[in-house]
Amino acid sequence: MNDVTARGKLKSAGPVAAADQPLYANRQKVYPKAVSGPVRRAKWAVLVACLALYYLAPLIRWDRGPNQPDQAILVDIGNGRLYFFWFEIWPQEVYYLTGLLVLGAIALFAATSLFGRVWCGFACPQTVWTDLFMWVERLIQGDRNERMKLDKAPWTAAKWRKKIVTHAAWLGIAAATGGAWIMYFNDAPTMTVALFTGQASLEVYFFFGLFTATTYVLAGWAREQVCTYMCPWPRFQAAMLDENSLVVSYRAWRGEPRGKLKGEGHGDCVDCMACVNVCPTGIDIRDGQQLECIGCGLCIDACDDIMAKLDRPKGLIAFETLKNIAASETATRSMPPCAARTATGMGVRHVPRFIRARTILYAAVLSSVMAVMLGTWMLRQEVTLAVLRDRAPLFVSLADGGIRNAYTLKIANKARDGGELTLVLESPARLQMTVQEAQETGPNRFRVTTRGDGITQWRVLATLPPGERTRESTPVTFRLLDARGRTVVRTDSVFLGPHGEGHR
Ligand code: SF4
Ligand code: SF4
Repeated sequence: MNDVTARGKLKSAGPVAAADQPLYANRQKVYPKAVSGPVRRAKWAVLVACLALYYLAPLIRWDRGPNQPDQAILVDIGNGRLYFFWFEIWPQEVYYLTGLLVLGAIALFAATSLFGRVWCGFACPQTVWTDLFMWVERLIQGDRNERMKLDKAPWTAAKWRKKIVTHAAWLGIAAATGGAWIMYFNDAPTMTVALFTGQASLEVYFFFGLFTATTYVLAGWAREQVCTYMCPWPRFQAAMLDENSLVVSYRAWRGEPRGKLKGEGHGDCVDCMACVNVCPTGIDIRDGQQLECIGCGLCIDACDDIMAKLDRPKGLIAFETLKNIAASETATRSMPPCAARTATGMGVRHVPRFIRARTILYAAVLSSVMAVMLGTWMLRQEVTLAVLRDRAPLFVSLADGGIRNAYTLKIANKARDGGELTLVLESPARLQMTVQEAQETGPNRFRVTTRGDGITQWRVLATLPPGERTRESTPVTFRLLDARGRTVVRTDSVFLGPHGEGHR
């Protein structure tokens, strides 16, 4: 049955009478205790890797040749480019980013289906930065008991000093985080100097301030409330879980009935609260699966430590499938608590089924999206031709009886070097093309020069001479040929004339 936890929050499982639910509960500050063990070490490793990646990635240099940015990862908003090592994405190719977001989302679904909230517990930026802030706080103010004592103590000089140093350190980290974010959008060495010498633009200082403040508030103050109240992911991640997903679980069949005393009539849980005290969201995993549990696994380390001291098998709290938990409960239901403790304390152990309908579906969608993205990248054209037909007016009737349409052609050359191409107009009507500021090399053929890594624009006039007939709308094709006469790119458009059956 649902009830309100010790921290005044509503547990998510099971029905509950609406009248029992508080509409709002004040936040009860959580004082997570330091813990050591394999899960904590894994979390440190992920934290260091994520932070190193975030802070150092903009500093990586990447030679792209003269007049090109030499930053490996750069979002160049001014010039409309996104650079990622070998890759250069143009604004019209933003669908690659959409594809990457789709890939990320499906990978997250798949990881959740296999390993529960592994993203939330280990690699989510909110978790990583909160963990870092908590480490700093612990370093300055001490572990759980010292921090609780400090908060209850009157405001002495020592307390002021500890609090000020903590917040200054947090602000320092937050500023480094905001500063690093700016570097992804500007040349990092140049922007670092500009930031410190007051030469950066107002926009830069605005975003620097915004990300500094966001990091400070979310990781220093809001912490677990972001996961519990602000983030939508916990609300629907349950849809990705099933009985074969590995989630942080309490083996109640082995731990209950809990009690301080060891021996007959008691389970392995000695109700020491170590698992609760280390929890960054302040919940009790023994209450079952809860929305607030981010799956960080720190309670596993805490409980394993207690079990080792009590000379009991580890794993009273573990990454376990709900299927195994249920099977163990069934198998031990009729046994007394002591007999229910198996030699290993692990209970029924079916190997988790990693290959199942939903994971196959995720893998299929993941590989399909990857194949589409890879295919489009490999077929990506270095030169593209956009044809914009004048719409006002749609056509011009000339004094001699001819009809003229005007077009603006934009040739985007994604290659480093520019070059010469031949622009050709093809149409069933006997149109005559002129291209302003381009050299004519034959009937309806003009030599155009393209700019490397840039866009060149050409004004094109197509004229139907007097006496020629055409329909209201005639298809036309603009084609760019290389020096050997091969088509580089073609784009279709139309030539418009007056209503009626034609003109003379
Ligand atoms: S740490 Fe283990 S023994 Fe202690 S209260 Fe939690 S589950 Fe029980
Ligand atoms: S209950 Fe355990 S796994 Fe869940 S958030 Fe707390 S410490 Fe992490």
